[in-house]
Amino acid sequence: STHNSEAFFGHPGGLKTLFVTEMWERMSYYGMRALLVLFMTASLQDGGLAITIASATAIYGLYTGTVYFMGLPGGWIADRLLGGQKAVWYGGIIIMFGHIVLAIPNDKTFFIGLILVILGTGLLKPNIGAMVGQLYSENDKRRDSGYAIYYMGINLGSFIGYLVCGYLASDFGWHYAFGAAAIGMAAGLIQYRLTTPKLEGVGAKPVAPLSAKGQRNSWLIISATLIAIAIITVLTFEGIVVIDPIATAQYVAMAFTLIFVVYYAIIYFFSDLTGNEKKKLWALLLICIASACFWSGFEQAGSSLNLFARDYTDRMIGSFEIPTAWFQFSNSMFIILLSPFFAAFWIKLGQRMVTPAYGIKCAAGLIIMASGFIVMFFAAQYAATGLQVAPGWLITTYFLHTVGELCLSPIALSAVSKLSPRRFAGQMMGIFVLTYSIGNIISGLLAGNYDPNNVEQIPSLYIQISLFSIGIGIIILLVGLKSRFWEALKTEEDDTAA
Ligand code: GLN
Repeated sequence: STHNSEAFFGHPGGLKTLFVTEMWERMSYYGMRALLVLFMTASLQDGGLAITIASATAIYGLYTGTVYFMGLPGGWIADRLLGGQKAVWYGGIIIMFGHIVLAIPNDKTFFIGLILVILGTGLLKPNIGAMVGQLYSENDKRRDSGYAIYYMGINLGSFIGYLVCGYLASDFGWHYAFGAAAIGMAAGLIQYRLTTPKLEGVGAKPVAPLSAKGQRNSWLIISATLIAIAIITVLTFEGIVVIDPIATAQYVAMAFTLIFVVYYAIIYFFSDLTGNEKKKLWALLLICIASACFWSGFEQAGSSLNLFARDYTDRMIGSFEIPTAWFQFSNSMFIILLSPFFAAFWIKLGQRMVTPAYGIKCAAGLIIMASGFIVMFFAAQYAATGLQVAPGWLITTYFLHTVGELCLSPIALSAVSKLSPRRFAGQMMGIFVLTYSIGNIISGLLAGNYDPNNVEQIPSLYIQISLFSIGIGIIILLVGLKSRFWEALKTEEDDTAA
């Protein structure tokens, strides 16, 4: 099928549905996320929760890590029980209720709101990403650029979120900002409902449904899990279960990595894959490793780079002080500005030579991101001498991080869509989103080494991240170039061979 009825920038009309839905979902996610650490660490007089910085950043890491971890069950539920369309719909509703609960000024309900956002995003995020790819037939050349457009929607959403929620939080109060996130998600849901027909059946049914009995059992297990989560939450509120966020984050990072390996292995060994499908999964594994390493560095944006902006960057322009959070903004702004150039660049490259393989782009993205930390290494050395550094250092870093992101992130999404066996579409996207999760948690743990009382140590933190990422990037290039399964990574060859 070509799904061409109503085009959106020369793409299937369904892309617009998914673009706008994900835009609003990301507006709510990033709008709230930008405030999370600030809100938790703010004093009680300032309407915050007065939690220590160490615990707040650990909770932040656990939250962002778990949000993406839940993509795994979320993808499975779509593949086996609900289909992508319903998973996105119910996921969005749960997210909206999460933000409504966050809008209530009360510290206990605050954590219930977070849990709802986690559960809802798990249902929505991987499945909306998988459905983008399903708009295209196997050999449709528009897939990569479809994901590039979709990625623009993600960042348009985060841009609006930072702007609106940041403004509301500073001028009206935290809970107005959280309420705005709920309204954004509601707008996305209304739009989604009205334009679902444009998806032309994509995600309408589970790709590999369970038997009626299997479905019943699965819903029982899901209900039992939800009840267990509710009980643990209540016990934590009552002080009967005490959760140490820092230790928990360390265990959870290990557990998520282990789960990634086991899940991947189960799909590889026990799903009757053909030889070709197995080859593609090896190729995909390289991309997943690149992705996890990439986000471990990149996601310092919300933590150590954010603190660097606050503590060591000269933010005065004349008598105007640049708000710390504005530096976060530069990422979504650079994405929006650079996306059209990248789209043109890939097309140009494609005309002149063989389209670069997915893996080459991902390795390049990782290495370019890492070079941003070389910039930070020098900036931190100046800071260690007691100077306030110019904003240009961080902005250059964010520029390099964004260029790296555009080489890796939309490309990787497209690769997952193309290289996954169709009957595992949602789950493979869930596994891929698990690399966000691992990256976010490791990033939080790395940021724990950022110690304002020991500023001499900060350059070495950054240079270590940089060298590690460059090393992995080079290994991925070499492994890929040397081995046979590199073929599966080539966009063009796949098309002609199919
Ligand atoms: N900005 C991207 C998104 O929201 C990637 C997020 C991430 O942490 N990997 O989809």
